[in-house]
Amino acid sequence: MTPKDVLKMIKDNGIKMVDMKFTDFLGTWQHTTVPAHMVDEDFFENGMGFDGSSIRGWQAINNSDMIMVPDPSTAKLEPFAELPILYMICNIFDPISKEPYSRDPRNIAKKAVKYLQSTGIADTAYFGPEAEFFLFDNIQFDYTRNTGYFFIDSEEGDWNTGADGVNLGYKVANKGGYFPAPPVDSLWDIRNEMAMTMESLGLVIENSHHEVATGGQCEIDMKFEEMLKMADQLMTFKYVVRNVARAHGKTATFMPKPIHGDNGSGMHVHQSLWKDGKPLFAGEQYAGMSEMALYYIGGIIKHANTIAAFTNPTTNSYKRLVPGFEAPVSLAYSSRNRSASIRIPMYSPSPKAKRIEVRFPDPLCNPYLAFSVMLLAGLDGIQNKIDPGEPMDKNLYDLDPIELSAIPQMPSSLAQSINALEKDHDFLLKGDVFTEDVIASWIEYKRANEISAIDSRPHPYEFKLYFDA
Ligand code: GLU
Ligand code: MG
Ligand code: MG
Repeated sequence: MTPKDVLKMIKDNGIKMVDMKFTDFLGTWQHTTVPAHMVDEDFFENGMGFDGSSIRGWQAINNSDMIMVPDPSTAKLEPFAELPILYMICNIFDPISKEPYSRDPRNIAKKAVKYLQSTGIADTAYFGPEAEFFLFDNIQFDYTRNTGYFFIDSEEGDWNTGADGVNLGYKVANKGGYFPAPPVDSLWDIRNEMAMTMESLGLVIENSHHEVATGGQCEIDMKFEEMLKMADQLMTFKYVVRNVARAHGKTATFMPKPIHGDNGSGMHVHQSLWKDGKPLFAGEQYAGMSEMALYYIGGIIKHANTIAAFTNPTTNSYKRLVPGFEAPVSLAYSSRNRSASIRIPMYSPSPKAKRIEVRFPDPLCNPYLAFSVMLLAGLDGIQNKIDPGEPMDKNLYDLDPIELSAIPQMPSSLAQSINALEKDHDFLLKGDVFTEDVIASWIEYKRANEISAIDSRPHPYEFKLYFDA
């Protein structure tokens, strides 16, 4: 779609306002709205100024002016406003140099795809994320009852005893959410509405289901797409999930581990490389993979600790990566094994379907950054022929300590992955995809605002353990 097409769409649909959305450094959509008469062909050249110093992790206050410029190819009719509104996703520019802004995640993802093409290895990277999330009815803080954790109220969920006093017997048992039909699955209508709204915005939905955890865990899967487009789609996906949930009086969360003792929410990311319309990951090696796919895995495993700083970007992320909840802890690959951090799905014999599924990311990641770091790690693996080691087809949660010590492990805290990023990031600087400034600001932001902010506060569970000890 060109600027002309967008102007026609505004006219044809009686659009009153145009909403400009962009993804901030951490991965949340921000927006600002202009009356439709402000949008002409020049607007797509010059964009609109805003204060970049008020956006987390961006400009300093003394250098705060930024410009957002809408990408006409992303224009859609807004589903969650009363007025007829058209929205577009924006790119961010520096007003003085007129260069794309180095800390704009969408710019980073664009550079990652350009770098891929410049290597000649492939021209297209396909990504397919499977974002899981919870829907809760209402959320209260309770430091005294229960276990001293957040006390989350849900219509489902037998772990919630008695907040509403209603018990029809259709409760999802602990880890029993996958996937009984209604009336046990009470979220079917909401998920259908989410899936249909997503399709109306151009996402292709392949499947939607309740997930394993109690308390309303859901998953909706999209068909794979080219990397930048998929990152845009994932932002749309989260927006739809949150807003449809809200319209039903529920709260959606993509927090990786909201409930202690039950499965967390992951975001498996399927990935494959293609060139001239041909898939490059199918071949004669283990599980029908090519040598290139194995080297890509080698790169992901080698750099996983650094990757996690972006794919598992919160302190809560590491509460999910523990044994026993279908989330990986060991850095191994396998065609069958869901306890491995990389799985090679075997559903389809078609070479076009050959891909790897990286299972450690979670849905709080900024998709532009997370996809870019995985792509760069995989490319580093291919360029340096990094051996991924032997596949591991046994249950990795059951290994004895000696077996376990032979397998590299995921980091166990955000502090560890941020330290890894500080040491191991040369592969991210290739093609100027990430700059030292971007990496330093990510590290500084995470340390100051999340790691030490959490470490320095008394935890609710400390009250249970220590308050009247
Ligand atoms: N919820 C699991 C996780 O934390 C994944 C379940 C699945 O295999 O889809 O990664
Ligand atoms: Mg799942
Ligand atoms: Mg999966």
